[in-house]
Amino acid sequence: MGARRELLNRFATDFIGLDRVDPVYGGGERRRVYLDTTATALMPRVVWDGIREYLQCASANSHTDAHRAGRDTTKAIEDSRDAIGRLVGYNCASDVVLFTANGATGATNFLARALFPPELRAVIKRFPDGAPQSFIATLDKCLGTAGAGVIDELLARPMVVASAMEHHSNLLPWMEAVGKQNVCAARVDPDTGGLDLDDLGRILTAHGDKIRLVAVTAVSNVTGVLNPVHKIARMAHEIGAQVLIDGAQWVPHAPVKMHTGDPAEDIDYLVLSGHKLYAPGSRGALVGSLSTLSSKRCVTDVGGGMVEYVSIEDFEVKEQVTAREEAGTPNIPGSIAMGVIAETLMLIGMDVIAEAEHEMTTLLVDRLAAVDGVEVYGSTDVKTVPRAGVVAFNVEGLYHGLVAAYLNDYHNIAVRNGCFCAQPYAKALLRVDHETEMSYRADMMCGDRRNLPGMVRASLGVYSTVADIDALCAALAQLHQERDTIAPQYRPDLNGTYRRVDGTALPITFSVADFVRSAL
Ligand code: PMP
Repeated sequence: MGARRELLNRFATDFIGLDRVDPVYGGGERRRVYLDTTATALMPRVVWDGIREYLQCASANSHTDAHRAGRDTTKAIEDSRDAIGRLVGYNCASDVVLFTANGATGATNFLARALFPPELRAVIKRFPDGAPQSFIATLDKCLGTAGAGVIDELLARPMVVASAMEHHSNLLPWMEAVGKQNVCAARVDPDTGGLDLDDLGRILTAHGDKIRLVAVTAVSNVTGVLNPVHKIARMAHEIGAQVLIDGAQWVPHAPVKMHTGDPAEDIDYLVLSGHKLYAPGSRGALVGSLSTLSSKRCVTDVGGGMVEYVSIEDFEVKEQVTAREEAGTPNIPGSIAMGVIAETLMLIGMDVIAEAEHEMTTLLVDRLAAVDGVEVYGSTDVKTVPRAGVVAFNVEGLYHGLVAAYLNDYHNIAVRNGCFCAQPYAKALLRVDHETEMSYRADMMCGDRRNLPGMVRASLGVYSTVADIDALCAALAQLHQERDTIAPQYRPDLNGTYRRVDGTALPITFSVADFVRSAL
């Protein structure tokens, strides 16, 4: 443990941009404090160097065996796939790691399209209360061998169960796939921030064999609260449903095992996001037993690389799922970045990382909760309601957008504010009543986002330090004390972004054109 902790310390202090100082209001400069890891993590030097080394040695397209660089590129991508799989404890004999575009969102949407193909979506949209048998029979006949039995089978289990704490990207794809009426969300406890497992159990019992999939997050991106995913998997499997775990905030912070030795508790599908795993610019990934998905159809794009045979009249797609479903030239540096980070994290050990982060999370929650005027959402007892490095809070009497603007402008502290793409959960934590919700919904629809409810979120990564937490808490204490002079310096625009009343703004620190002019 000691040597690995030492390795973690070296890794944690070697991130690009960690040692920046920037100008702030009030004069002078401040060290950058990055507390927005939940949105996107910083990149460690090892990933940067890994990409550079790859480009130096083997930069090429992956779809070729004709030359060394092409072969090495293909191998590096396949090795990266396997590294990601090992990081999450996949079964290399039955699971596949599919790289997707656009982070965890791309991966979840892929699965939604694979499980619920266009015919089914069309039928559900046309007949939200259930399609007549005669219609299904005709459709089945029209689809011929490609669709034989498919509609019947899918309509038998049209429901997806999610939770009220999901990121929108684990909610909307299911609404689109099976219709809003067929998505049920287990409630959360607004006091603890935790998922109400009894409610989940009730939903599963009530709908039983109508449920095709239970799709829940392992870690909330708002409160960092951890869900008992293997217990949830057992609950899903007991009623014959599969389980998808949104691992976007889990994989970077905890040891993940898709297979525990007890198949009842296995995770069928896991999605994750490279840019949250210290590999910005990389890809999303879906891990699971994907080869059982229809091999006769292509779920995503068609084009180069995914076909066996093409004539001007016809084409035949490849059987192997990653060959078939990753059409075109992939994001090669992004794939390799994911491999590099996965190998790095395995070398250090996710147990070591989780232990170190647990100490920091406890400190963050305790320290924040002790600042005058700060309200932390969810339980602050990290022992009974564990969290993974994320805390949402508000400062008494101040709008969340103003708090975020102030922290940035005066202290160079980066946090997020708003509902964090988890509006149902944020509204539950904030106890927004129906009337308020309807009122701000009407405002939003008219383009006025100034009164949206929300919170401020501080989130940690391996590079976060006690000094970062000190800086945040000191800044918040100062804000609370001096709120009468600070608040009038800001006014929200229609997007709800707080801008300075005097019209000034901090200088832009990076410009593509300026960089090019200075670099060449
Ligand atoms: N799920 C969770 C829990 C998340 O935090 C996020 C991103 N904030 C997503 C899914 C979507 O990830 P991405 O932005 O990589 O698509």
